[in-house]
Amino acid sequence: MGGGKGSGERAMDDAAVDDTVTVDVAVVGGGLAGWTAAIAAQDAGRRVTVVERSARRPGWGNSVVSGGALHAVLRDPRANPAVLAAAITELTDGHADPVVVQAWAANAARAVAWVEAQGGELMSDPDHPHRAKVFAPVRVTEPGMRYAGFGVTNFLTTQRESFVRRGGRVIQPGRARSLSRDTDVWQLEVQRSGTATVGVRARSVVLADGGFQANPALLRRYVGTDQVRRRAAGTGSGDGLLMGLANGGVAVNMKGFYGHLLARASLERDDLWPYPILDLLAEVGVVVTTDGMRIVDEHLGGVTTTNAIAWSSNPAGCWLVVDDDAWQHEGTIGITAPNPWLVAHGATVHSATTLRDVAGLAGIDGPALEDSIAQVRDATATSPPRTGRAKLRKPPFHAIALVAGVTFTLGGLRVDGHARVLDDQSEPIEGLYAAGGTMGGLHGGPRAGYAGGLLEAAVFGLLAGEHAAGRS
Ligand SMILES: Cc1cc2nc3c(=O)[nH]c(=O)nc-3n(C[C@H](O)[C@H](O)[C@H](O)COP(=O)(O)OP(=O)(O)OC[C@H]3O[C@@H](n4cnc5c(N)ncnc54)[C@H](O)[C@@H]3O)c2cc1C
Repeated sequence: MGGGKGSGERAMDDAAVDDTVTVDVAVVGGGLAGWTAAIAAQDAGRRVTVVERSARRPGWGNSVVSGGALHAVLRDPRANPAVLAAAITELTDGHADPVVVQAWAANAARAVAWVEAQGGELMSDPDHPHRAKVFAPVRVTEPGMRYAGFGVTNFLTTQRESFVRRGGRVIQPGRARSLSRDTDVWQLEVQRSGTATVGVRARSVVLADGGFQANPALLRRYVGTDQVRRRAAGTGSGDGLLMGLANGGVAVNMKGFYGHLLARASLERDDLWPYPILDLLAEVGVVVTTDGMRIVDEHLGGVTTTNAIAWSSNPAGCWLVVDDDAWQHEGTIGITAPNPWLVAHGATVHSATTLRDVAGLAGIDGPALEDSIAQVRDATATSPPRTGRAKLRKPPFHAIALVAGVTFTLGGLRVDGHARVLDDQSEPIEGLYAAGGTMGGLHGGPRAGYAGGLLEAAVFGLLAGEHAAGRS
């Protein structure tokens, strides 16, 4: 087996395809995880096919619309692996899988170096460790699915072109819908336009379809609600997860997601997502349901607070209440700052000089809100917030209608340190891999601890591609 085909071979994107394609490694999904796996396996001399659902090149998932920061729990990914491992273990309250954590930490710096060796342009911001390696040009934090001309899109486009030039085959658009195994060969069924299908036979399959954030039924099953704003490309439907489960895989850490606080009007308006996000503002306010009760310690940060909204009794009925001090300070930070963007773009923001009045406008139980805020004032009198400023005292008060913005689901198929999918006996399923948003075990826990999605994709894409190549 092995050996790339001639460079003159046409990519399958627009070509009529055979009924069945036979290769060494099939990769499902053309995001950072998928393209990394594909190139790594191709570099090792394997015949590789990438199946990508979207017609848009290089693919249409979260990688291309992301902010491009290759961070490890908001740290420089080249930091001491032991420090990185300790950070995600703490943030997940021990729910991260130690084997996955070790593989991630030990290969983080190598994955960054690999991206750079492949021509990825990464810039550094020495003042912010989590921005030590960011794909350049950097995506601007403005509303809309911005992607063209930015670093990740440029990088993956180059990867795709190089892959095709060296004989790699791309089935695009093509949606992998089912997976089965015939002795030691995997059979992938790929849906093309209409009812047309293509079969791909491969010794190894890497599932890298980005998560299940775009699948309301799976969100209801695992997160507990679909009353969220999808803050992501719409292609992560959980096909990889379902194919993995159907072949003996196990789902882990399924409840949490990576996301941010958004204005509830983002459910109807595209100029309110993926930015502005209200995370910073929430740290100096309170997040309550209409019964006036807080649902989380807002100091735990935006990802935790966003999950708390989704896990609350009324995910579509939560409010952020801040005072005017916060609205004028934290509210005005950022390229697309909540103040004045929200009001100018149709978000619901009620303002009044008393808490009782703002509660009345928002339909929140007024006395309960006053009680909740009195408790926060008492607490911050002895332990001031990070800003050092008094919290929730200066009128007018503002109540902002919230919704949880779901960027990608943190759980997924349980894998080992080579990205091999494990069965319920913790044994690897021969030739089956999961990487990036499809895998589970790196993030999660009661605070929805998040390690960084792009680095996860690069590390486990690399590990999957290398290991799959080795067994072909
Ligand atoms: C606005 C935004 C900003 C972000 N910023 C950052 C950041 O700065 N740093 C960071 O670490 N993370 C960030 N993230 C998260 C990060 O983008 C993801 O965690 C990461 O890109 C996941 O990569 P992936 O390859 O697993 O999935 P994706 O990039 O989503 O790729 C999956 C691919 O699979 C394809 N696909 C889906 N289903 C099928 C199927 N059945 N058959 C074939 N193909 C299929 C999709 O079309 C897609 O192209 C951000 C995300 C968003 C939305």
